Amino acid sequence: GVLGVDTLEQHNPEFDRLLYIVANFCAVAINNGRTYERAAEMARHDGLTGLLNHATFQSKLAEMLTEAKNTDRPVSLVISDVDHFKHFNDRFGHQAGDFVLRSVADLWKRLIPHDALAARYGGEEFVCVLPDVGLEEASQYAESLRFALDNAHFEFETTELHVTASFGVAAFPISADSAVTVIREADAALYAAKRGGRNRVSVAPINQESIRCQ
Ligand code: GH3
Ligand code: MG
Ligand code: MG
Repeated sequence: GVLGVDTLEQHNPEFDRLLYIVANFCAVAINNGRTYERAAEMARHDGLTGLLNHATFQSKLAEMLTEAKNTDRPVSLVISDVDHFKHFNDRFGHQAGDFVLRSVADLWKRLIPHDALAARYGGEEFVCVLPDVGLEEASQYAESLRFALDNAHFEFETTELHVTASFGVAAFPISADSAVTVIREADAALYAAKRGGRNRVSVAPINQESIRCQ
């Protein structure tokens, strides 16, 4: 904020005091505004990874789907889950686990397109929403994330760490027609990837009914 004072004709201690009080009120208001903005920003993000959190992901996905329906464009969802992460924690410790989750998130931030949205869905699960991207292209993005992670090594306190992840991909409108069903389809594909042996991408089936409804 700026407090401007113009053409003071003579020095007046009372006016000085008034200015001092007004300036203090303004400073408190500005400070409150900044604190509110910081708190709102923290409430939207996950504390460990800095990605959007689950609640923000849900509301952004709903917004992006509404936009996609209105403009007749696709939206894709990629959900990933780090493989055998419980075993990883047991072997290397939870601090190494936290470090790896931050590193995976940083990799996602670097690799996804600028208009995509990345969020931490839960523990070791991450999601990526790709606006204007169809199922085929989204599965290529998922494959590039999988490949990049499989080829990455993260150094934590002199120990080289390596993890893989499994991926499920679904898209509106080709796989499902709502936020709830797109997540469900991507999740089902993710579990198919786990069952198929992990460290792989699985894609949701095409749903003719969902396509017809659009
Ligand atoms: P799968 O390949 O089937 O996904 O096996 P998994 O071991 O990864 O799956 P499971 O759901 O059994 O375990 C998930 C693990 O993720 C257990 C939990 O301790 C760990 N985890 C969840 N959130 C965090 C976190 O913030 N930090 C750390 N270090 N570990 C976490
Ligand atoms: Mg999991
Ligand atoms: Mg896991």
